[in-house]
Amino acid sequence: MNSKAIRKAFLDFFISKQHTIVDSAPMVVKNDPTLMFTNAGMNQFKDIFLGNQPATSVRIADTQKCLRVSGKHNDLEEVGHDTYHHTMFEMLGNWSFGDYFKTEAIDWAWEFLHTQMGIPADRMYATVFEGAKDDNLELDEEAKNLWLKHLPAERVLHGNKKDNFWEMGDTGPCGPCSEIHVDLRDDAERAKVSGAELVNKDNPLVIEIWNLVFIQFNRKADGRLEELPAKHVDTGMGFERLCMVLQGKKSNYDTDVFQTIIAEISALCGIKYGENDKSDIAMRVIADHLRAISFAIADGQLPSNNKAGYVIRRILRRAVRYGYTFLNFREAFIFKLVEVLKNNMGDAFPELKAQQVLIEKVVKEEEESFLRTLSTGIKLLDDIIEKAKAENKTVIEGKDAFTLYDTFGFPLDLTELIARENQMTVDGAGFDEEMEAQKTRSRSAAQQETDDWVELMRIESTQFLGYDKLEATVHIARYRKV
Ligand code: ATP
Ligand code: MG
Ligand code: MG
Ligand code: MG
Repeated sequence: MNSKAIRKAFLDFFISKQHTIVDSAPMVVKNDPTLMFTNAGMNQFKDIFLGNQPATSVRIADTQKCLRVSGKHNDLEEVGHDTYHHTMFEMLGNWSFGDYFKTEAIDWAWEFLHTQMGIPADRMYATVFEGAKDDNLELDEEAKNLWLKHLPAERVLHGNKKDNFWEMGDTGPCGPCSEIHVDLRDDAERAKVSGAELVNKDNPLVIEIWNLVFIQFNRKADGRLEELPAKHVDTGMGFERLCMVLQGKKSNYDTDVFQTIIAEISALCGIKYGENDKSDIAMRVIADHLRAISFAIADGQLPSNNKAGYVIRRILRRAVRYGYTFLNFREAFIFKLVEVLKNNMGDAFPELKAQQVLIEKVVKEEEESFLRTLSTGIKLLDDIIEKAKAENKTVIEGKDAFTLYDTFGFPLDLTELIARENQMTVDGAGFDEEMEAQKTRSRSAAQQETDDWVELMRIESTQFLGYDKLEATVHIARYRKV
């Protein structure tokens, strides 16, 4: 089954269970001071859970574009190095707003994964909330008994508050959750473990695939839990992980979601995928980051020098730097991959088709501007590392890291990456101090903040005007509606 068919199968399954399918909310969040990017399917339904807004339908399902690169969920460092965390990914989800509860949520998850998609029962296990003394909560017997209809007792494991109790914040809706994990190890490997040993301990072949949250409490300001009058279901399943399982692969990157992109990267640089660890990681990082950047731009978030825009710029620069260092790219290349991404995902996400020209233009400009400074910056950093080594130091000074950031556009994590490759670290606190000092300087100079948000409703009539060079490395893209 290819990824398009898998996405459709999920949505069709929930249509058959009387769910309304809604569009993904934008990945870039405009109106929530607590969140820069959508990081879970439930974000767009927050106000329904909080009781501020009625549900338009009591049963909803969708695929949501998510980005986990900041705040509570930051998977950036895992990406490319492991095989199942992405920056941008699709979270498939189904919701009940005061309608069905645990029975249907669990039975349908089982029916979809096992009965319809054919994942063997002996490759799955479920976790349920073990209870918590401080909250006077017992084991979630109800969820456990529901799983015991489908799985043997040794495959229904207990999990603690950290893994199996979901809370939106310090107060508000919350409840126990139940996760489904898939074990892709060979039979011989699997035969060696049983019961509680089955549990996922960061083994890349034992992965969490679906999280079912049962929202049944409201946490009050004094910390007490109160039963909600209406109970809700909120689920999230990693689409790329599902594709990996159903396509019989052992890495998300080996599915058709990523393979066409990786094939294009490989064709552009002339290095085969699967031959060398470092170039493989680089190709995975680039394939991943391409998606994050393209979807962000399609949602109207251009790379810039502050807030969400800077996060996107950092991701793009990270991809450029992996390409530069490990795949020998010396010229802009990421923009050439947008076409493949659009062919893959443009049907499910038409914004990619609508914004293709803009995405390519912005990415190309960004790449070119960063490549210019990258080579100079890398030489400088090499000198700094040489000097530090000669002095038997293992830490790069915050001041140096800041110069690289300020003058050469190196995000801190890029400097840290290069440092790590040389068995060194960076003085992050020192970097922060320099950053603070610069902020104070620019505040006193009363510099005007340039808004990086543009509305892209009528993109055909938007004319790209190029970049305003504000200083050596700060480029703010400007668009004018015509
Ligand atoms: P993990 O423990 O693997 O980091 P999680 O517990 O942080 O996952 P949830 O917040 O429960 O994930 O999100 C629901 C589902 O989304 C997960 O079960 C998983 O399938 C998928 N998922 C979460 N983070 C990522 C990611 N960075 N890339 C791809 N899929 C993800
Ligand atoms: Mg996680
Ligand atoms: Mg988890
Ligand atoms: Mg989880």
